[in-house]
Amino acid sequence: MRKPFIAANWKMNKTVPEAEAFLSEFLPEVSNVTDADIVIAPPFTALKTVGEKLKGTNVILAAQNVFYEEKGAYTGEISPSMLLDAGCSYVIIGHSERRQYFNETDEIVNKKIKTALKNGLKVILCIGESLAQRQEGKTNDVLKEQLTNGLKDVDIENIVIAYEPIWAIGTGVTATPEQAEDAHSYIRKEISSIYGNKAEALRILYGGSVTPDNVNDLMTCPDVDGALVGGASLKPDSFSKIVKFKRTGG
Ligand code: PEP
Repeated sequence: MRKPFIAANWKMNKTVPEAEAFLSEFLPEVSNVTDADIVIAPPFTALKTVGEKLKGTNVILAAQNVFYEEKGAYTGEISPSMLLDAGCSYVIIGHSERRQYFNETDEIVNKKIKTALKNGLKVILCIGESLAQRQEGKTNDVLKEQLTNGLKDVDIENIVIAYEPIWAIGTGVTATPEQAEDAHSYIRKEISSIYGNKAEALRILYGGSVTPDNVNDLMTCPDVDGALVGGASLKPDSFSKIVKFKRTGG
C-alpha cells in the first residue's frame, strides 16, 4: 500500500508572520492524521521559521526549488545543504512555473534532481502537458519525454512524482478523475518499464486546482496517491480538509 502524500506549494505567498499564523491554526487540525504524509513548501524566506515550528509534529518541510551546484558564485541560488540546514526533507523540482518563467529544461531538472538526491534531499518531480499538447493528443509523449530526460540515470527510491497538467494549475479547471487516472497509470507503466517493480511503491500525486470539493473523487483513483496543492493550501481550513480527504476501503 502506498501512503497518501498531501503537499502544499505556497509558491510566492506568505511572509514569516503569515506562515506562523497559518501553522497555529493548521497544526492542531491535522495533529491526529497518521495515515498520510503531510508536506508544506513555503517560500525560502519562511523555511527556517516553519522548519522550527514543524519539529516534533507530523508535518514535513519541503522547498520549492534548489540549484544544481553545491556551493559557489551563483548569486541568488540556494543549495541542497542550505535546505537541509533549514529542516527540509523534500524539494519540489521541475514545477511548470519554473519551466515556463525560468526556462528550466528537462536537462536542468535532471541536474537538480541528481544534486538534491546526492545531498540527502527527497524530490517531488513535477511533470505535465499544456492545453495545446493535450488537444494535439501529445499528452503521453510529453509525459514520457519529461520522465525519461528528467530521471536520466536517477534511482527513483526517494522520488515522488506530481502529475500537474498545466491547463489545470491555478485555473479552477481540474482534471476529471478519469483524465487523472489515465495519466497516472501511464506514468506508472512508463516507470515500470525502466525501474520494474519499484514502480509499485512510487507515489504519484495529482496537482491542478485541487480543492476540498474534488479531492475525494480524485483520491479514489487507484493510481492517484496524493495531491500537490497550490491555491487551496494557502488557507488552513481548506488545506486541512484536503489532508483529511475521505478514506475508502482498508
Ligand atoms: C501547483 O502549483 O502545484 C498547483 C497545483 O496549483 P493549484 O492547486 O493552485 O492549481
